[in-house]
Amino acid sequence: MTPTASTDSQQGLLDRYTHSLITVFGTPQLVLDRGDGAWVWDTDGKRYLDLVGGVAVNALGHNHPALVAAVSKQVSEMAHISNFYTSRAQIELAERILKIADAPTGSGVFFGNSGAEAIEAAIKLSRRTGRTGIIAAEGAFHGRTTGALALTHKAAYREPFAPLIPDVSHVPYNDVEALRAAVTEATAAVVLEPVQGEAGAIVADPAYLRAAREITTAAGALLVIDEVQTGIGRTGDWFGYQESGIVPDAVTLAKGLGGGLPIGALVTFGPEVSGLLTAGQHGSTFGGNPLVAAAGLSVLDTIAGHGLLAHVTEVGDHLARAVTALDHPEVEGVRGRGLLRAIVLRSDLSPAIATGAREAGFLVNPVASNAIRLIPPLTITRDELDLFVAALPSLIASAKESTP
Ligand SMILES: *Cc1c(COP(=O)(O)O)cnc(C)c1O
Repeated sequence: MTPTASTDSQQGLLDRYTHSLITVFGTPQLVLDRGDGAWVWDTDGKRYLDLVGGVAVNALGHNHPALVAAVSKQVSEMAHISNFYTSRAQIELAERILKIADAPTGSGVFFGNSGAEAIEAAIKLSRRTGRTGIIAAEGAFHGRTTGALALTHKAAYREPFAPLIPDVSHVPYNDVEALRAAVTEATAAVVLEPVQGEAGAIVADPAYLRAAREITTAAGALLVIDEVQTGIGRTGDWFGYQESGIVPDAVTLAKGLGGGLPIGALVTFGPEVSGLLTAGQHGSTFGGNPLVAAAGLSVLDTIAGHGLLAHVTEVGDHLARAVTALDHPEVEGVRGRGLLRAIVLRSDLSPAIATGAREAGFLVNPVASNAIRLIPPLTITRDELDLFVAALPSLIASAKESTP
């Protein structure tokens, strides 16, 4: 290893971080330098298998040649133009999203820059029904901006910023009768995730989504499906809701869509819903600029062209089977779909497992004290996943030793 000045070592850089950034994320675990496929390297040259994937963002992994080529070409031509103008890339990306969503004629896309912004657009869309009530689920995560935060369930995230927008309530997830009881003629929208990622990969029963469709239609409320984490192939379908066969009124997208570039989108289904937001009622300076649109197109092209949907189902199911086959006494089971998975433990070992995993060269997310979330690049191979599965028993053993 080459000697580095102390201010440029991992520790030196992290010290500089704590003196220069607002520490809402605490102190980061590592200073990373570069990546390739499902692997990343820190500034000391240590290599890690990246099973976090930028929190389900790096759909194509790191340094994917298609994404690099598309973004490099676009940035050399034109990166940004404002929404006074449009670009081929923006139009094509919107068309492609409508196509993979099987959206009917008259549907539309609004581009923002993040998941929270996609949710903000959905909230504003819902207000145009003339109603104000929004129903979300217990355990839900919809983002951190003040509007989206009202829909996010975790009290610790919301309470320091109260009061948030009114008329939002939370019902138990996967509970049809609770939803039926909560939705009224005052409900503008029901907002649901097909898999609750931040809650630890908790999957909606397809029958629950179908019931939500039926209940919202009967009440004249919008059904908004938050696909920020589940969308763009993460579950093995283009979108998590597709397995249930429903047609939602709106879908929010972000994380995987740009393959690492910041883009978010609200998709509205059919002319009636798409007509709710009219000229001048919403906007975003950066939203859907040619650079991020080119990135999005290369992600969609690569997923389609390389058969990644089938790959995600195959390796995701393999991962779940392989972890289950360990038959480890500390492992309760594996939740999730495709490559949005959580290994559920019988005790609160996940923070210690994540720390030990990092030392052993694996990045994983301890999403709950008893659950480890795995949301790797969609391109990850079976062999790469097997490396982690093989290491898991010893990681659990070390975690048990270090946890009192
Ligand atoms: C991450 C996430 C968001 C928020 O996205 P940001 O880009 O962090 O604003 C919203 N909804 C879901 C389901 C998410 O997973």
